[in-house]
Amino acid sequence: MNPVTLTDVQALDLADPLARKRAEFDLPEHIIYLDGNSLGCLPSAVRTRVTEVIDQQWGTDLIKSWNTHGWIDLPVVTGEKIARLIGAAPGQVICCDSISVNLFKLLSAALGLQPGRTVVLSQDDNFPTDLYMVQGLSDLLGSHRCRLLTVCAEDLERQLSSDVAVLMLTHVNFRSGYIHDMQRITELAHSKGILVIWDLAHSAGVLPLQLDQCQVDFAVGCTYKYLNAGPGAPAFLYVAKRHLSHVNQALCGWMGHQSPFQFSSEYEGAPGIEKFLTGTPPVISMSALDAALDVFDKVDLLEVRHKTKRLTDLFITLAAQTPALDVLSLASPTDADQRGAQLAWRHANAYAICQALIAEGVIGDFRAPDILRLGFSPLYLRYEDVWHSVKVLATIMETGRWQNKKFSQTSKVT
Ligand SMILES: *Cc1c(COP(=O)(O)O)cnc(C)c1O
Repeated sequence: MNPVTLTDVQALDLADPLARKRAEFDLPEHIIYLDGNSLGCLPSAVRTRVTEVIDQQWGTDLIKSWNTHGWIDLPVVTGEKIARLIGAAPGQVICCDSISVNLFKLLSAALGLQPGRTVVLSQDDNFPTDLYMVQGLSDLLGSHRCRLLTVCAEDLERQLSSDVAVLMLTHVNFRSGYIHDMQRITELAHSKGILVIWDLAHSAGVLPLQLDQCQVDFAVGCTYKYLNAGPGAPAFLYVAKRHLSHVNQALCGWMGHQSPFQFSSEYEGAPGIEKFLTGTPPVISMSALDAALDVFDKVDLLEVRHKTKRLTDLFITLAAQTPALDVLSLASPTDADQRGAQLAWRHANAYAICQALIAEGVIGDFRAPDILRLGFSPLYLRYEDVWHSVKVLATIMETGRWQNKKFSQTSKVT
């Protein structure tokens, strides 16, 4: 096979139906951003919206804005925009809090639907916060009500037994990018009477999802990764309609009450998805989220998926034709169909390599213990960016530049 050339890569950009989306982002100059899986770039519409919210809605209209600017409806309005992206019919998605907090709500809700069953089954390499939330709930309720069992991915199916109340999995593994078969695993769990919670942190906005069709029970996801809603933007949660009327959640704050402004001293949960709200929505971040989601208006997620597969395949192909990169081993599936929008490269000095890359204007991140993680957010990345990032990485490895001591100093956030 002939090596891929820069001209080939530029031809991919010219033919890219998503290329037009790049202009909707405020991108820093001279940076190739391969970390949209951690914090998405800033959509220009978000800047405009947040300025308006601060100057006009908060600064001038003040408390009236809860009604006149629809602040109070933002959790539902943004939830419905996300619903379209994850294959959910209306009335099942709402935005609030963080993934961690939302998992606590969903775990408490799911366990309440499973009397007699105690085990929450998950994967030992799941994102830690997901496991921590079960541990906290288990401490609170006692192990006779909630017990965490974690196994490796290969053993999951064997562990689906009648003791298991809830199967809690992350759809796309945060390190390797491996994608679980949502449909098959959900079906298998249901056949044993197990409810399923999916974490969509690395799926929402880059994979075409069909939550309703897969009969998923519950899901959570965040909006600051591929949905580009900004640092600390609120997360979302999904509850299947069939559970809504009889499910309860532990963090039953006033915003989840059926009529919060009656100020009744008795909690009466809202009949719909609003019952999963707890406190006052963070209006500025939610407005940013609302504007960020409009970038996805008319975007075809099949096209998005196609591009992420091609971007990651291109990186792998270019790396394979670059001898200096032989020392990095791919910890992601080689088959693009089994892989999300990221690549994990293993190297004992991955941290220093990542810092050296950042110093050269190619931003990725490091995941302990030895992974250089590169994300390929398809709405603003070009195929040509992939070409240049491979070149920069090759130079860093060839020159050994990463061995400079300054690249081994660790910061609080990696
Ligand atoms: C990013 C991420 C989170 C983040 O949780 P927060 O509580 O929103 O900070 C949770 N789970 C997974 C799998 C993630 O990748």
